[in-house]
Amino acid sequence: MTIKEFVAASKAALAEEISALERKPHLVIIQANDSPASDAYVRGKIKDCGEVGARATLCLLPPTVSEEELLAKVDEYNRDEDVDGLIVQLPLPKHISEAKVKLAVTPEKDVDGFHPLTTFIPCTPRGIIDYLTEEGFPFVGKNAVVLGRSEIVGKPMAKLLLSKHCNVTVLHSRTSEEDKAFYIAHADLIVVAIGKLGFLDNRFQYKKDAVIVDVGINRNEEGKLRGDAIPDLPVALQTPVPGGVGLLTRLALVKNLVIAAKNR
Ligand code: NAD
Repeated sequence: MTIKEFVAASKAALAEEISALERKPHLVIIQANDSPASDAYVRGKIKDCGEVGARATLCLLPPTVSEEELLAKVDEYNRDEDVDGLIVQLPLPKHISEAKVKLAVTPEKDVDGFHPLTTFIPCTPRGIIDYLTEEGFPFVGKNAVVLGRSEIVGKPMAKLLLSKHCNVTVLHSRTSEEDKAFYIAHADLIVVAIGKLGFLDNRFQYKKDAVIVDVGINRNEEGKLRGDAIPDLPVALQTPVPGGVGLLTRLALVKNLVIAAKNR
């Protein structure tokens, strides 16, 4: 199944699940930046909620908002009985501590999965695992390589793959090129999340039955969205950019929202 087909089928199932709920799940998105990329992500999240019959509210704050005012808003929605999921769109203005804000969202509503006590799986790794599971990827004992060690993708991805019994290797900016080539050549699954246009290319060798999951979002010289891997590498499956992990991430957010609503 292509990612688009998987997302469409999953959304149809979610819509059915939500239609049976008395109270429609309600997501609140706080946005305190004026980044066009964030505007597009937020529009996507609101559209997804609408498509499955969930409610979404955007709380737009000016980038000049103080940390105190933003935390007060978070607190207000934390207490609001009518709100199931609460997310704060990143990046935040420089004068606001991202760490403080992530800790401020109550774990029960933290559908982004950023709070240390949250029970929600962060959306990008969750979306990837759900898709690989649907594709029948045989996780147990497989060599998985995660490129990148960020808090929102690389680290939770590695942890999840470990929980699926993969042999997990995390490669990062301080890994030598020689070691990267070695681990990539032996990988059954490569999840690349480093934000470097076309980093995975033909200078590396791949197992022919390997799976490449491309998380990267980069703009090429023509301003078009492209991933961390060049297209059509000689492997069994490679997720496209655009139309790949971004869609899976959005789907996972809606899934987390439904869980949050059902938990309450
Ligand atoms: P980040 O940008 O915070 O950090 C980059 C990571 O890559 C670091 O851990 C660093 O060690 C590693 N790295 C940098 N250069 C490297 C190199 N040459 N070799 C190996 N590792 C290297 O990471 P992030 O927030 O996970 O974002 C990574 C990419 O994924 C970005 O392009 C981002 O836009 C994209 N992203 C996409 C989605 C989605 O839904 N599709 C979600 C989150 C992030």
